[in-house]
Order: sequence, then C-alpha cells, then structure tokens
Amino acid sequence: MKNIKSMLPEEIAADFEAMGLPKYRAKQVFKWLVRGVGSFDEMSDIPKPLREKLEEEYSIYKPKVLSKQVSQIDGTIKYLWELCDGNAVETVVMSYKHGNTVCVSSQVGCRQGCAFCASTIGGLVRCLEPSEILDEVLFSELDSGKHISNIVLMGIGEPLDNFDNVMKFLKLVNCPDGMNIGMRHISLSTCGIIERFDDLAEQNLQLTLSVSLHAPDDETRSKIMPANRGRGVDELIAACKRYYDKTGRRISFEYAMIDGVNDTEYHARLLAKRAKAVCAHVNLIPLNHVEERQFKPSTDGHMKAFIKILEDSGVNVTVRRKLGGDVDASCGQLRRKMQKKK
Ligand code: SAH
Repeated sequence: MKNIKSMLPEEIAADFEAMGLPKYRAKQVFKWLVRGVGSFDEMSDIPKPLREKLEEEYSIYKPKVLSKQVSQIDGTIKYLWELCDGNAVETVVMSYKHGNTVCVSSQVGCRQGCAFCASTIGGLVRCLEPSEILDEVLFSELDSGKHISNIVLMGIGEPLDNFDNVMKFLKLVNCPDGMNIGMRHISLSTCGIIERFDDLAEQNLQLTLSVSLHAPDDETRSKIMPANRGRGVDELIAACKRYYDKTGRRISFEYAMIDGVNDTEYHARLLAKRAKAVCAHVNLIPLNHVEERQFKPSTDGHMKAFIKILEDSGVNVTVRRKLGGDVDASCGQLRRKMQKKK
C-alpha cells in the first residue's frame, strides 16, 4: 500500500488521473490530510465507494501521543509520538515573540555518535518517512493549538543521513495547499556530512543550514564528534564556503559550550577565524547535561570570556536561550527515558 501522506498534491493528482478520477478529488483528499484525518472514512465529501477504493490503495497513519509535557517555566511543549511500528520520536514546540518554532526529529536514533548527545545512545534504528516528519509538525500544531511558523530540524537524527526523505518532507511542508511554511522559516542542522552539502545547495532552497561545529580544530572535534574523523574541519569549512557561494545563504555554526573541552581562549580565537572565513553566524548553546555523559556545561565566566573574544573579532554571536529545562526538552532525552523503563 502507498503511504499517501508522503505524496505531493501533484503526485496524488497523477495517481488519481490514472485511476480515471476527476482532478478535484486529489485536491479534496489533500485538504483532508492537512486537517489530520486518520482514515479515508472521515473524508465526508468523498462518496463512500470511492473512500473504500482509496482505503485499499493507500495507507494513512496518525501518530499517537505517548506523552506530552508542558514546561511550567516557559510553556515549551515536548511530545513523544508513537509511530506505526511502535518506535517513538520526540518533537518540541517552543514559543518565541516572533512565533512558534517546532523542533522535529528526522530519524529514530542516530548513527553519528556525538559524545555529548543523548539521541545517539543505542545507535540508529531507522529513518523517518517524509510523512512522519510532516506529522510531527502537523500534529504538534493541531494538538497544541499553536500556529507553527518556524521549523528546526534539530531533534533526533542526522537529516543529511536521510537526505531524500528530508527533501520530500521540505516540499510537503512548503506546499501552498498544505502547511505552507516558507523555506526561510526552516533550519536544517547537520553534524557535517559534507558529501551532501553540494547536493543540498543544488536543491536551491532558501532554508538556513546550521552546522554543528562544536570545535574549530580537528583534535577537539574528532574527540567529541566521530563524524569529523576522516573529514576534518578544513574540509568542512571548504564545503560551507561552497554552500554559501552557491546559495548566498549565511550558515550558522552551532557551538555547545562544554567545560574544559572546547571553551578555552584558543578555541575562541580559532572559532572566530573559522566563522569569518565563511561569514557564518555563531550560535552558542549552553550544554544540556545528559545523565549518561560525563560532560558539564561551561561556567558563566568562561562563556562571557569566549563571547567577548568572538565579538571583538567582529563575529556575529548569539546565545541560545534555554527553554523547557523542566521537560527534558533536549533531543533524545525523553525517548531515552522510555527505553530505560522498558
Ligand atoms: N544531527 C544534527 C541535528 C540534531 S542535533 C546535528 O548534529 O546538527 C541538534 C543540535 O543539538 C546539534 O547542534 C547537536 O550537536 C546539539 N546537541 C546535542 N546534544 C546536546 C547537548 N547535550 N547539549 C547541547 N546541545 C546538544
């Protein structure tokens, strides 16, 4: 059976045409899907015999809420969804002055093995389908009643390890008849799978590419991010430069401040050089403590000194505000808790 929620309106239309159905049927069905129905039977303006026929041809799955936590501090919502095969992924809804941002997962687990990250403990289970990533956005909006205006692909998984499905998801979420979220409101975060940077640039999307840099030198970066081994920071910066030259879109460097690991003056100076080489924006993240990991967040003093060096060098720096501290709202923590209970 075909998963109809992973299909673009034009693909549904082509299928329907081949079945001899009138054009407007595809539009009708797509509209129902965007409303979050779980079966063709709910599509009340489609004749019953056709609904039955479509039920045989296509599947529609609706994720179940396994848990929903709402932060008492800032209203951040964290969902744990159950997928059709019993796997679970997390989605976080954050409210900012400029609108609501949803942070979505792109895989069940992750094979990249970053030493400070909770999502990667237990490795990769499988990639998410385009429809499953879309459902995270759709059902977060429908369940929370909060209109989603921005998306960050910063949940569980490495989006560039699920390239085709992520590209399809982007097209789906961008559909004018669908959720209609503009590419400029979407950020894709990667640990630096540089083999896919040129492919991504080729897509000519207006999204923001976030690179999880976390260290400006090979010695430190290879220690905490296995993805750096065999690639290297010089290669990564070169790939960023090509991406920027081709798309004209400024890249953002994510940098989690880890006590005694990547937060020295040496790191700050080299980071400034790296960022300036590609006009990147630096987003510092206070490290989230993960139970299984030995790392600690940098002290306020070290962070201040680090920021000053970057700013004095003329680098554009922001510090990510910590949201949802009381709801395990950093990627992989909730799924991890559930795994431990099992
Ligand atoms: N695989 C992608 C996207 C998912 S992770 C990537 O690596 O970019 C989203 C971001 O959260 C990445 O920048 C990642 O390095 C960061 N991250 C993971 N664990 C963290 C932790 N414990 N504290 C702070 N940031 C963390």
